[in-house]
Order: sequence, then C-alpha cells, then structure tokens
Amino acid sequence: MGRKFFVGGNWKCNGNTEEVKKIVASLNAAQVPSQDVVEVVVSPPYVFLPLVKESLRSDFHVAAQNCWVKKGGAYTGEVSAEMLVDLNVPWVILGHSERRALLNESSEFVGDKVAYALSKGLKVIACIGETLEQREAGTTVDVVAAQTKAIAEKISDWTNVVLAYEPVWAIGTGKVASPAQAQEVHVELRKWLKANVNADVAASTRIIYGGSVNGGNCKDLASQPDIDGFLVGGASLKPEFIDIIKSAE
Ligand code: PEP
Repeated sequence: MGRKFFVGGNWKCNGNTEEVKKIVASLNAAQVPSQDVVEVVVSPPYVFLPLVKESLRSDFHVAAQNCWVKKGGAYTGEVSAEMLVDLNVPWVILGHSERRALLNESSEFVGDKVAYALSKGLKVIACIGETLEQREAGTTVDVVAAQTKAIAEKISDWTNVVLAYEPVWAIGTGKVASPAQAQEVHVELRKWLKANVNADVAASTRIIYGGSVNGGNCKDLASQPDIDGFLVGGASLKPEFIDIIKSAE
C-alpha cells in the first residue's frame, strides 16, 4: 500500500523568535529516519513561517495552521491559500478541533477550505474527531464519517490529503486514545472511504492520529496497522518530538 509514515507538529499559538530558533536548532541536530521512511512537517504560527522555512533542515517541511476559504480580499485577519503558495509553504492544517469549537467552523466550511486549498496546490492535513459526549453516546463513527463526508463531497482527488483523526477529548488533555481505540476508528474511516470514495483512496490515504501523543505512547500507537503517523501538539514543542518521529521505524 506504501503509505509513508507522517509526523506533523502543530505548534499552535505558541513561541517567540527565541523559542522558535531553539526548536529549529534541536530539530536540525536530530538523527531521524530518512525521508523514505517518514515525512515530517512542522506547523508554526503564521508569523514564524518564513523564519522556520529558511532555517529548517531541507528534509522537513512546514505547514500553516489554517487558511482562508477562498481567494483573498476584504477578509481582515485572514491569510489566503495563494499567500501560502507564494511563500512556498507546501502544507496547511484545516479543520482543527480548536477552530471548529472556538471559531465555529462547520464541517461544510472545512470541506470548502480543503477543496480551495487543494485547488491552489497546497497539501492538506484535514482534522476530524468526536467530542467526549459523542463518544459516550456511541456516535464516534457517525461523527467522523459525517466530517469526512463534508470533505469528500467537495474534492475529487485525495492524493494531497492526510486525514488526522483527533478525538477532541484527547487533545491537550493527557488522555490519549488507546492503540486499540484509535485503530478501530481508523479502520472505520478506511471502510467509509472504500464505500463512499473508492478502494484506492481507502488504501492509499494516510490516516494519522492526534491527541496527547508523546514520546512514551507513540511506539504502541505506531504499531497499529492503520495508524499512519501522528499530528502532535504539545509534545511537538519538546525534545520528545524526535522520539515520536523515530517511532516511524
Ligand atoms: C493537536 O493540537 O493537534 C494535538 C493533537 O494536541 P496535543 O498533542 O497537545 O493533544
């Protein structure tokens, strides 16, 4: 199937110039598996993208944490997909649960953003995931399927999409999904893709897990057959991010 392991580091709204330089220096000095084995993408806040891009080792890449849903213009505070392309930023994270929850981004809006970003040549880390209430109500699979459907309805080519399953109850909480819990949802997502998109997309799309991944739990999670990597928040700011990258091996 050839799904290359993917490790994304979401720095969220953290850091200053000094701290960003330190993180980049530590990433640049790290011994990690080759690009044939693992794709590493770090996502600093917009304002640090040029600094990170020019100073980061060439085998790692950068992502923006968001972009606007259509061509730029009179949208104060937004950054367009075209601007990211202009800066040679190859990736963008879309649909993160913090934006869904805090900024009311609907699944339809996220689907539109994914479609627009792809149409401009960006690669997309598309985030989905259920809340604790939804998990406890037994609706996890319905929720992530609906979120995926809202994306699938707007795109025809999944080549440049990485799907990040991030249960909301696991993000930033220290409560990681067990390897079995994550694997179960990834399998259901692959089944959904097979039934609703096609078998090729189901087999080739990378489905990564996010939610309190750290240096201690990454190996067990990575050993699951349908976990193709991670989106890492808090731990991506720390030296253990290197251990997480190494779990690709
Ligand atoms: C995230 O923000 O995507 C994330 C998974 O955060 P954390 O690793 O801190 O739970």
